Amino acid sequence: AIILGIETSCDDTGCGIVDTQGNLLGEALHSQHLTHLNNGGIIPPIAHDLHRQNIENVVQQALKSASLSLNEVDAIATTVKPGLPLSLIIGAKYGKYLCKKYHKPFIPVHHMEAHALTARMFDKSIEFPFLVLLISGGHCLLAVANSVDEFLLLGESIDDAPGEAFDKMARRLKIKNLPQYSTLSGGAAIELATSEATDFLDFAGIKAVFLRHIWRAEKKGIPPDGVMSGYQNLCASFLLTTTRHLCHRVQRGMEYLARKKLIPPDKQTLVVSGGVACNNFIAEGLQIVCENLNYKFIRPPPKFCTDNGIMIAWNGVERWNANIGVYKNFDDIEIASTSQLGQSVKEDVAAENISCKWVKLSS
Ligand code: ATP
Ligand code: FE
Repeated sequence: AIILGIETSCDDTGCGIVDTQGNLLGEALHSQHLTHLNNGGIIPPIAHDLHRQNIENVVQQALKSASLSLNEVDAIATTVKPGLPLSLIIGAKYGKYLCKKYHKPFIPVHHMEAHALTARMFDKSIEFPFLVLLISGGHCLLAVANSVDEFLLLGESIDDAPGEAFDKMARRLKIKNLPQYSTLSGGAAIELATSEATDFLDFAGIKAVFLRHIWRAEKKGIPPDGVMSGYQNLCASFLLTTTRHLCHRVQRGMEYLARKKLIPPDKQTLVVSGGVACNNFIAEGLQIVCENLNYKFIRPPPKFCTDNGIMIAWNGVERWNANIGVYKNFDDIEIASTSQLGQSVKEDVAAENISCKWVKLSS
C-alpha cells in the first residue's frame, strides 16, 4: 500500500509519500522559518495563512516527485496533535478533504509519536520496546516505545524544551545579525558558534561574560551588530550544560529500566529524534552514555529529525500495518494543541533513589 502524509503542526508545511515496505517515494517541504525569523518568533495567524497558501502546492509537488496521482494512494495520514491549533487545522482540514474527494481512509497522527517512530523507517532492525529521547522545539521527553501506539513516559521537561532554549539564547545573543548564522535555526547557530569556541566557561565565567555584555551595553560600547565578543565560548558552555543535563536524565532512565527489567538486556536501544537531535555534540554525549550502559544508539538522518511529511507518512504506514487508527469515518476526529504521549510511569523516576555512577563526558 501507499501512504501519503501531511504535516502542518508548527511552521513547516510538509508532505511525504511512503509505501508499506518503508520505501520513500516522494516528498516536499515548505518552511516558514525565514518569515518567522524576521518576526522574532512564530505568529500563529501568519503561520496559518502560510500553511493555507502552500498546502496544495506542497502535496502536488510530493505527488509529482513520486510520479503518483492521489488515486494511487491508499490512505492519508495527517498530524492532528499536538501543535499550534491555527497550524494544525490547515493540515487536518486538507487531509480530510482529500480523503473525502478520493474516497480514502484517514489516519490521524500524533506528532511526537511520529518523531519517535521515524527511526524505524531508516533502520528496520529497531524492534519494540526501545527507549526514545525526543528533544525538539516544543518538547523534551523520555519514553519507552512499547508498540506503535503504546508509550511509557519516564519523564518530561517541567518547563522549556531544549530547542526553545537554544532559540531564545540565539535571539538574546543577537548572533543571527552575523551573516554566517542569519538563516540558521537557533540551535544550529549555537552549534556552529561552538565550533569556534576556545574554552568552556564555568558558572563564574558565564556570569562574567553576561555582566561584561551588560556593562558594555550600558556604556554604549557594544559593537554595531550588537553581538558580544566571546559569544562562542558562551554558546559552547550553554551547549555543554544542556548536553550534560540530557545525558544524566537519560542515564537515570536507563538505570530505572534495568532495575524494573522493562527492556531485555540484549535489546537495549536508545533512539533520539526531534530537531535538537541534529546537534552532533549532544548526539556524541548520548553515544558515550549508550556505550557505557550497553545501549545501541540510533538517530535518524538529521533532515528527518526536524519536522517533515515523511515521518507522518511513515507513522501512517506503522498504523496501517498494525491496523490501528485507520478511519473510514473521520468527521469526529478533532485537532488538539496538547496531548501527552502515552502513559506516565506511576512512580517518579527521579525519586526512585537510583544511585548511578555518572558517565564522564569528555569535553
Ligand atoms: P515539536 O516537535 O516539539 O512540536 P517543533 O516541531 O517545532 O517542536 P522540530 O522541528 O522538531 O520542533 O525542531 C526544531 C528545533 O530544533 C528548533 O528549536 C531548533 O533550534 C532546533 N535545532 C535545529 N537544529 C539544531 C542543532 N543543530 N542543534 C540544536 N538544536 C537544533
Ligand atoms: Fe516536531
